[in-house]
Amino acid sequence: MKQYTYTLLLAAVTVLLASCTTNRLSSETGMKSPKNIILLIGDGMGLTQVSTTYYYKEGESNFSRFKHIGLHQNQPTSHKVTDSASGATAFAAGVKTYNGAIGVDQDTTPVRTILEMLAAKGYHTALIATSSIVHATPASLYAHTASRSSYEEIARQLVYAPVNFFAGGGTKFFVERSEIVNYLDTLQQRGFQVNTAGLSSKRLNPEENHAFLLAPDGMPKMQEGRGDFLPKATDLALKYLAKDEDGFFLMVEGSQIDWGGHANDAQYVIQETLDFDKTLEVALDFAAKDKNTLVIVTADHETGGLSLSASTIYGQGDYSKITPSFSTGNHSAALIPVFAYGPGAEQFMGIYQNNEIFDKMVKVMKLSKR
Ligand code: MG
Ligand code: ZN
Repeated sequence: MKQYTYTLLLAAVTVLLASCTTNRLSSETGMKSPKNIILLIGDGMGLTQVSTTYYYKEGESNFSRFKHIGLHQNQPTSHKVTDSASGATAFAAGVKTYNGAIGVDQDTTPVRTILEMLAAKGYHTALIATSSIVHATPASLYAHTASRSSYEEIARQLVYAPVNFFAGGGTKFFVERSEIVNYLDTLQQRGFQVNTAGLSSKRLNPEENHAFLLAPDGMPKMQEGRGDFLPKATDLALKYLAKDEDGFFLMVEGSQIDWGGHANDAQYVIQETLDFDKTLEVALDFAAKDKNTLVIVTADHETGGLSLSASTIYGQGDYSKITPSFSTGNHSAALIPVFAYGPGAEQFMGIYQNNEIFDKMVKVMKLSKR
């Protein structure tokens, strides 16, 4: 009997010790492991776009809060310069693929994403974008299609994907379809509260899933009065996700930094980047308090070849003034900064390939790859 009690006590102590140590410190490597991941992607946000938060923002840039910084090279398999689909698929699933690929490798074979891997382990997952939610960047985390323009198919896949919360535009892809089916109804049947009017001001029920589809296609620009959608949706999602005991994965995209670059509209780029910076504040404040959340901030590529040039007046450089200028209406091939904060952040230092961001997330979360 005594022996039995002793064994039981030993077992209890072992379990207690294990639960203290698995959380967040692997004894072999000394690597800290987070409970949650927030991946923030500024589409088209190169170093110059990041720099605008130092010249056009009142107050400190939130990028200054990062101590662990790296760079990624983003060349796809098909071209020299990447698009958002192959760029996001590289982060999401760890493969280099062709431009236009959504969650598939260069042979169009579906590849498992970090969101799917974590969802399978019981994590809550969420996606927020200022584009439509079926646009290339968010789609690469939950969909698998040979072409980024298969929006109807991507919307269908989202309905059946292991996503608990999403917010952005794209209502028309769920409603105006070639088949006779309204996927907003299907979402409701699958446990979603579907909201097309606006973000909820109340706390969300953690037992339910939540969809906020707030525009037919992309969300309005900041210049058209989008307001605080991105930081507010991020805050709403974090309050909802924090209820999960297992942990969560949240992807937030500042989608329209890219669109400002394509339009060669410096004010468009700046307003969208400042909105993204404000969203960083929400994510970093959460992580600073929580102490168990890894925040990763990066971009798929740079858009516009933006330069913060000194102004030129009568052929002379005027170094007291910046005139932003663009070198292209398309993407550029520049290396892209990666900023990380929280347990595991040190893994993101150095210069590496875009698909290694997936490898690093897998490593810090101690997942097995396939
Ligand atoms: Mg995008
Ligand atoms: Zn683009």
